[in-house]
Amino acid sequence: MKTALITGITGQDGSYLSEFLLEKGYDVHGVIRRSSVDYRERIEHLEGHANFHLHYGDLGDSLGIIQVINKVRPDEIYNLAAQSHVQVSFDSPEYTANVDATGVLRILEAVRQCGLEKTCRIYQASTSELYGRVEEVPQNEDTPFHPYSPYAVAKLYGFWIVKEYRDAYNMFCCNGILFNHESERRGETFVTRKITLAAARIAQGKQDKLYIGNLSSMRDWGYAKDYVECMWLMLQQDKADDYVIATGEQHSVREFCQLAFREVGIELEFKGEGEDEKGYEKSTGRVLVEVSPDFYRPTDVVNLWGDPTKAKTRLGWNPSKTPFAELVKLMVQSDMRKVAADGVAARVRMNLEEYLEKGIIK
Ligand code: NAP
Ligand code: GDP
Repeated sequence: MKTALITGITGQDGSYLSEFLLEKGYDVHGVIRRSSVDYRERIEHLEGHANFHLHYGDLGDSLGIIQVINKVRPDEIYNLAAQSHVQVSFDSPEYTANVDATGVLRILEAVRQCGLEKTCRIYQASTSELYGRVEEVPQNEDTPFHPYSPYAVAKLYGFWIVKEYRDAYNMFCCNGILFNHESERRGETFVTRKITLAAARIAQGKQDKLYIGNLSSMRDWGYAKDYVECMWLMLQQDKADDYVIATGEQHSVREFCQLAFREVGIELEFKGEGEDEKGYEKSTGRVLVEVSPDFYRPTDVVNLWGDPTKAKTRLGWNPSKTPFAELVKLMVQSDMRKVAADGVAARVRMNLEEYLEKGIIK
């Protein structure tokens, strides 16, 4: 049985990767951060599984990382932990650098300190944000990087330090240059999830409007569940290498909105330009989407489009497994269920409070 250690196990990708590796028969260990409240919604269903173990640790703390790696002595490490939000990196640039740049170095050095450099394979969660202010479309493994946010600059260090350890110490470490990947488990402040949740809430009368930033930004959006397979595939090759993981298709934020709202039965029509652009419900003329400069970024990456040819040919990975329309559909349907369930839970809570107040329930 192989042993894997996943940092960032409570995140979107960490939870899918755990399921994937458990199914493959791995002993899965995850690093979680200590906090006063336990928030592990995405991996709740895995706790109690005989091959699923959690350890406290933080990418900002080398000693803790060394301890965990020494205890688990993994065959494979998937370094998914990061401050992963681009906008947040403008607000907390130093913290982002500590976790997303130096944190990668801490993992690599810990593996060496524990004497595992010849046996332990490492996957680093690199990102299409490295292409930033893009110099070529679509982007492949040879496209020059031009990072365009504190997040991307930190991740660029992570990318290069992985390459350096591969060359200097002959370690088996790979960068997965993953383009945006989404799912029902995506964080609620990323644009796709923000849109699908808003569409569900508006359709159920729980929200009036969606305020959004740059509608013209273009992304190559894939399904997270499909992407974790690539992380594993990279570590099963004879030689360590870096790979672009993308669908090879590009869509705008505006298009994502239109598809998501259509899924809840609302046809949107966009009129106006820039800050004045609005999304109207065709049948009623109601404004449901409005641009707010609050969501503009100091520098925005607007043209990401990946070329997954290398992953397709060398890893045998299928980039078209979940088509874009299917991804939007499954996210919206999940949020429709979630919003409805939240409504039921809120009503039950209200009733309970009322019954307690009236002494109906003691
Ligand atoms: P996510 O949902 O935001 O999860 C991030 C994970 O990192 C969480 O488990 C978080 O723990 C953990 N973490 C944050 N700071 C940490 C620290 N100081 N020490 C230990 N753990 C820490 O991100 P994701 O979407 O799954 O992405 C996984 C990785 O891929 C990230 O490195 C991200 O930058 C990268 N990436 C993502 C995409 C994408 O489209 N999703 C694309 C390219 C690259 P808490 O739960 O405690 O916060
Ligand atoms: P990113 O590619 O990792 O930055 O993923 P996001 O989902 O956060 O953002 C994708 C694109 O959507 C970026 O170009 C954002 O500027 C754009 N965008 C437009 N409106 C919003 C918004 O309200 N929230 C977020 N997060 N992004 C937005």
